[in-house]
Amino acid sequence: MFCMAAQSMGYRVCVLDPVADGPAGAVAERQIVAAYDDPAALGELGALCAAVTTEFENVPAPSLQLLTQHCLVRPPADAVAVAQDRIAEKRFVLSCGIDVVPHAVVAKHSDAQSIDSTLFPAILKTAHLGYDGKGQSEVRERGELVAAWQQLRSVHCVLEKKLTLRRELSIIIARGADGTKEYFPVVENAHRRGILAVSMIPAQLDADQAKRARAIAAQIADALQYVGVLCVELFEGDDGHLLVNEIAPRPHNSGHATIEACASSQFVQQVRALAGMPLGDTSLLSPAIMLNLLGDLWFGDDGAPQTPAFERVLAVPGACLHLYGKRDARPGRKMGHVTVLGHSLAIAHQRACRVADVLSLEQPQPLAPDNSQRALQ
Ligand code: ADP
Ligand code: MG
Repeated sequence: MFCMAAQSMGYRVCVLDPVADGPAGAVAERQIVAAYDDPAALGELGALCAAVTTEFENVPAPSLQLLTQHCLVRPPADAVAVAQDRIAEKRFVLSCGIDVVPHAVVAKHSDAQSIDSTLFPAILKTAHLGYDGKGQSEVRERGELVAAWQQLRSVHCVLEKKLTLRRELSIIIARGADGTKEYFPVVENAHRRGILAVSMIPAQLDADQAKRARAIAAQIADALQYVGVLCVELFEGDDGHLLVNEIAPRPHNSGHATIEACASSQFVQQVRALAGMPLGDTSLLSPAIMLNLLGDLWFGDDGAPQTPAFERVLAVPGACLHLYGKRDARPGRKMGHVTVLGHSLAIAHQRACRVADVLSLEQPQPLAPDNSQRALQ
């Protein structure tokens, strides 16, 4: 999606990807098939490109650092390094005076004994390389901790208190090299089994809460001297208090609806930031609900391969289909998404429920009463 946005603005794109038939490589003008830390490949990429960015969080920060010898690199390697390490990330967010989930570091055997009992029930997360709920394990009580840690191969982890959440929100911000900032409308997210399932834009928030979310994103982006698109995942506690869950130094799955719903998408914004162009207008053009399409949809109840009924999805007004061209569908793998537009959130929601029905997905979370009662016209 980033490649397409760049190309639509007249740029040519070269993708470095260890996989030969990945979605971005299929769209880009050039592809270098090599490991993310291959010095020769990085040299070739740096020589070819005026500017480099990353769409994937786990590109090693030292590779980005190396590329700075050749060309512009945005976001900065240091910011990516913080986001790649849950321990450093939490420490950094706290240093900005922003709250994170109560947690403790588990790095050695004896840590299991000294952990504060109030953290249980908890979620143990690897400090590095987790995504879509991978590298996580629920730990109900202290007695389960060592086994869970060993199951995660005894790597450095954080143990987080499992919170009761009112809502999950995300805020996507773009920051230019001159410190200018633009914010997309706050998004409300629902996860299933640790994987994003539904995003609603705009979130059903009062103006003060949205302002607080923007202030958190601004503070983090400024402190990181960030350039580019950054997503801050927020937990809203039962009392309405906002905590930072994690940050993603890239366009984010919860922002995919900005392609149709906003004047500039998060991908266009990333291109603009990377190219040193003025940031785009992030205004909402239409409320929207995004449904993720996981590989599970390509298998019937009996496990036999099937093609999801996309002709019935596209018969729903406002439905926009995005398939990423991934060759193999696997359960839990993100294969694409559907964004459903409507003149009001209530209409978008009603349509998204129809799409969910067609695909046998769980229904999107119900709207707040004042939104659902609003006339569906
Ligand atoms: P990932 O890197 O896989 O996105 P996250 O830390 O964002 O990892 O966790 C994925 C999801 O799991 C979250 O969006 C949330 O739904 C749930 N989750 C994670 N940590 C907690 C927590 N401490 N309390 C409650 N739910 C959590
Ligand atoms: Mg997350």
